[in-house]
Amino acid sequence: MATNGEETQNQAGRHQEVGHKSLLQSDALYQYILETSVYPREPEPMKELREITANHPWNIMTTSADEGQFLNMLLKLINAKNTMEIGVYTGYSLLATALALPDDGKILAMDINRENYELGLPVIQKAGVAHKIDFREGPALPVLDQLIQDGKHGTFDFIFVDADKDNYLNYHKRLIELVKVGGLIGYDNTLWNGSVVAPPDAPLRKYVRYYRDFVLELNKALPADPRIEICMLPVGDGVTLCRRIS
Ligand code: SAM
Ligand code: CA
Repeated sequence: MATNGEETQNQAGRHQEVGHKSLLQSDALYQYILETSVYPREPEPMKELREITANHPWNIMTTSADEGQFLNMLLKLINAKNTMEIGVYTGYSLLATALALPDDGKILAMDINRENYELGLPVIQKAGVAHKIDFREGPALPVLDQLIQDGKHGTFDFIFVDADKDNYLNYHKRLIELVKVGGLIGYDNTLWNGSVVAPPDAPLRKYVRYYRDFVLELNKALPADPRIEICMLPVGDGVTLCRRIS
């Protein structure tokens, strides 16, 4: 039988496998959430997609299982029907969304990389929810501009933003028009690996350091925006929910 120390190490190892650094007190506590709340109720297709994604070299990008469970619950709570996702990767958060929406629900999903989306697509199809997804390959910004030009103001119940952090404020300018009053925008990774509170000389990985300034800028801009109410949650890598109020 493993000692407590060994157990903690194993848990930390498993945790690292899925590429998430816990924002909690300990990795063991994060593992407890996964094993107690998330894995026992994770829909089979999400489990399958999570396992496929774990073998992909960029798996650090995936939405964590606890955040997937949170998004799924949130979408049901707000009765979301018309949604958008910017940044799909292999589709874990997309599948969490698709499973939460009613049969005639819609997700406009955008990513510059179709190949990774296609890795998860067979699982999404098997789950019977692919008809809800309108996938667009390419940068999201021009699609948003087109939606505004087409007069789609105030038509989205929920928008999940999980792509290029250096564009989040550009997205926000447009999304605030596209989300309905009372609807939600979720900005992902707003705690950016905990680096938002790292001292200036902290040894950060290059991409973490590069995007950190953009995340900090967003985290300053959102509370100053009178058109939204906000709530920053320490789920996954931090997600800031913005509810449009005007
Ligand atoms: N939500 C995904 C999930 O649950 O696995 C993770 C998304 S991953 C963190 C970020 C994604 O954003 C990548 O797949 C990347 O190709 C995409 N991306 C980067 N720049 C983009 C852009 N300008 N427009 C749309 N997607 C972009
Ligand atoms: Ca993310």
